[in-house]
Amino acid sequence: MSGETVHDLFVIGGGINGCGIARDAAGRGYGVALAEMNDFASGTSSAATKLIHGGLRYLEHYEFRLVREALMEREVLWAMAPHVIRPMRFVLPFQKGGVRPAWLVRLGLFLYDHLGGRKLLPATRTFDLGGDPAGRPLKPLFRKAFEYSDGWVDDARLVVLNARDAAGRGALILSRTRVVAARRQDGLWRIETRNAAGERTVHRARMLVNAAGPWVDGVLSGVLGRGDAHHVRLVQGSHIVVRRKFADPRAYFFQNPDGRIMFAIPYEQDFTLIGTTDRDYEGDPGAVAITDGEIDYLCAAASDYFAEPVRREDIVWTYSGVRPLFDDGASKAQEATRDYVLKVEAGDGEPPLLNVFGGKLTTYRRLAEHALEKIGAALGAKGRPWTAGSHLPGGDFAPQAFDAEVTALRLRYPFLGQRHAERLVRCYGTDAAALLGTARDAAGLGRHFGGTLYEVEVRWLVEREWAVTAEDILWRRTKQGLSLTREEAQALEVCLEGTRASLKAG
Ligand SMILES: Cc1cc2nc3c(=O)[nH]c(=O)nc-3n(C[C@H](O)[C@H](O)[C@H](O)COP(=O)(O)OP(=O)(O)OC[C@H]3O[C@@H](n4cnc5c(N)ncnc54)[C@H](O)[C@@H]3O)c2cc1C
Repeated sequence: MSGETVHDLFVIGGGINGCGIARDAAGRGYGVALAEMNDFASGTSSAATKLIHGGLRYLEHYEFRLVREALMEREVLWAMAPHVIRPMRFVLPFQKGGVRPAWLVRLGLFLYDHLGGRKLLPATRTFDLGGDPAGRPLKPLFRKAFEYSDGWVDDARLVVLNARDAAGRGALILSRTRVVAARRQDGLWRIETRNAAGERTVHRARMLVNAAGPWVDGVLSGVLGRGDAHHVRLVQGSHIVVRRKFADPRAYFFQNPDGRIMFAIPYEQDFTLIGTTDRDYEGDPGAVAITDGEIDYLCAAASDYFAEPVRREDIVWTYSGVRPLFDDGASKAQEATRDYVLKVEAGDGEPPLLNVFGGKLTTYRRLAEHALEKIGAALGAKGRPWTAGSHLPGGDFAPQAFDAEVTALRLRYPFLGQRHAERLVRCYGTDAAALLGTARDAAGLGRHFGGTLYEVEVRWLVEREWAVTAEDILWRRTKQGLSLTREEAQALEVCLEGTRASLKAG
């Protein structure tokens, strides 16, 4: 029952922050274990708007530190993972008498262009919507628009690539393993986990990291037995996905009359992603789901801008997540700080606990570096900051060479269609060839599950990326859930159940 290994670090939570910290720490030579109670990125880290962005709106709340750090991260992260991250241009239509005067938006975009060490991303420009394809799907309310740069990320894949890289550097990565109790004992942390089969294991570690996102207070009160804890404010945000509203590769940034902002983003080749909302949330973060009110709000707000309205029946998918924002006492959900706070608790000679409050996808790598400063101070420093300039698995190609990678993959596997090849390079980068292996024709890809999902990919995900259920594969490792019919998804689930059963029997 009791494991003999003493880990330097035990991380609770396999979202972006837990996996980012585990990767950085493992790369510096610490002995690391991480436990995720469900699938990686099954919490907030697959429910984002998926922007690698400075956060133009946070300038209004004077969050200059956060915006600067986030802006600088855009190109660092793009270079680290040019498959799952790509630059995107945003069109911000400007309406006379709108919520924010044009000079203020222009000032914000000026700071945006100059605060963050931009090298490859193109600068802001102002243009006339009349003669531009970006004006076509919009109501004729707008004449002028700003166009600026930010990045887009496949959030769930970013998480699993960090987990893979951490494992590759020696970390013990446990999925579907819940931390049920953690106590200080004999100068170490004694951590008890329970896996999906109900097996309990005891781990020992010199330091504990609570990176449980919206569950961070729940871990403090439940797992650590602290009584009530109130450090984060839970703010729900939901998105709707509709069939493609526009063919242009640029995204839209709309300013709603209530002061909120909304994005409409080209999504997964055939769709448009619209969001988000901002409402205080109470209850289990795992039970969050879009409300009727949010659907009505998003449809109505989008219909104010697009010439063709967005109706409920156009919606093909929705998702909802809970932001774990550090509770700074702001009265409105939109005003709560988006910055992160790291707090170490250590008594005399007691093994330390690091709590992670808040954080964004965009700043996860810097958050991990700051966490490692605290870990080094507590355990003794090892290694140096190394993740800037590194590559996540499959990301070892130049940031602007995505199209060349797709062409190279099609040359090697001429039977692949363009869209299929693009999707594979987007998900796996240079690992796409390892995934396809010796396949010489479509038959060599094995069973076809629907969309562009074949057996070779399913195998890769089960064997290398901890995928267990159809949901892991269809909605987190890929977004093929948007392409498969309900029957096809069920057939995949049955096939995976068979694989699990034969593995158990073996
Ligand atoms: C609507 C919305 C839009 C957003 N848009 C953006 C954006 O565009 N750009 C951006 O940069 N950021 C965005 N964010 C913020 C970003 O998504 C989050 O800050 C980030 O994903 C939080 O990651 P995390 O690792 O802290 O939490 P999570 O991803 O929730 O991870 C915590 C994990 O801990 C696990 N866990 C909890 N308790 C236990 C336990 N006892 N044992 C084991 N595991 C446990 C959970 O299962 C969970 O997977 C958005 C957030 C939301 C909600």
